[in-house]
Amino acid sequence: MRLDDYMTTCLLHPTLGYYTTQDPFGQTGDFITAPEISQMFGELIGLCLAQKWLSDGAPDRFTLAELGPGRGTLMADALRACRAVPGFADAAQIVLIEASPALQAQQRKALSRYDVTWIDRTTRLPDQPLYLIANEFFDALPIRQFIRDENNWRECQIGLQDGAFQMGLGAALPQPSLAHRMNDTKDGDVVETCAAGITILNSIATRIDTYGGAALIIDYGDWRSLGDTFQALQDHQSVDPLASPGHADLTAHVDFEGLATAAAPALFTKLTPQGVFLERLGVTARAQNLANALNGPALDAHITAHRRLTHPAEMGNLFKVMGLYQNGKPPPPGLEP
Ligand code: SAH
Repeated sequence: MRLDDYMTTCLLHPTLGYYTTQDPFGQTGDFITAPEISQMFGELIGLCLAQKWLSDGAPDRFTLAELGPGRGTLMADALRACRAVPGFADAAQIVLIEASPALQAQQRKALSRYDVTWIDRTTRLPDQPLYLIANEFFDALPIRQFIRDENNWRECQIGLQDGAFQMGLGAALPQPSLAHRMNDTKDGDVVETCAAGITILNSIATRIDTYGGAALIIDYGDWRSLGDTFQALQDHQSVDPLASPGHADLTAHVDFEGLATAAAPALFTKLTPQGVFLERLGVTARAQNLANALNGPALDAHITAHRRLTHPAEMGNLFKVMGLYQNGKPPPPGLEP
């Protein structure tokens, strides 16, 4: 079985999949994401998009979309912060893309005061300006892995041996889609590809090019994929990705260069560390403001959360932000062309 088929089945199988059957987030779940760490994350993302909307001339109808909204926390924090921006909420049509019915139900609850639509794919996004957020979405999309074998590639595949899953290698074959990796890899190197991510990114970028708007893609990963980044998390611990299918979160680092190549004719920004991006958006001022109302353990937790989101040794550097925007318009605040 190819790795992308394995990932899709483990994560999204209708009755046995990881996202379809459980709530993976928070202290008691398997991992914790930025919006669950602090309200500041969603607030600043929301205000970033609202400022971009203002800079674009405040179009009177637009889509405010999120891919893989988890518990709906980010969108709820963003919309609350954006109440400070006159006209923004009234002009916004909120659209979410979420594969898990269990998480959709949580999103409905978190956003009960808003009119929200769910769609199942980006090609169904309304034909109007698009302002979109994807936090830790692209890392959940299925990847394929290849090992270089001289001038060919062998695909990493999963087989069954003595009742257990085992990684194995397919035959050495040419891979035209990896021709550009012949220059920066050597025999034995592992590269990963994510066709689903490229297709989704291209459909977002096409909308932004046609109707205007912006997208913020936030994830762990780097400019170019090199090495095996396929991993599983269970109870905040790294585990063998083949050991308990459907019970562990499976992810791979995002290859931002791969996504960026699918952005044309829309433009993409420089890849920016999350810590730098949040600093530019004013996270420290917001943190100080919130701290004024806190003391004791709540204040300690707040300071820890600020550090977790921004410090280079925590999420600040591992997580990166890439923006998409329309040619002729400014990039989203906090990001550079
Ligand atoms: N953005 C949230 C959740 C990240 S986890 C946060 O930051 O907390 C990944 C999310 O993407 C989950 O909501 C998961 O159910 C959803 N997801 C994963 N693969 C998907 C797919 N192919 N289509 C739609 N949603 C998907």
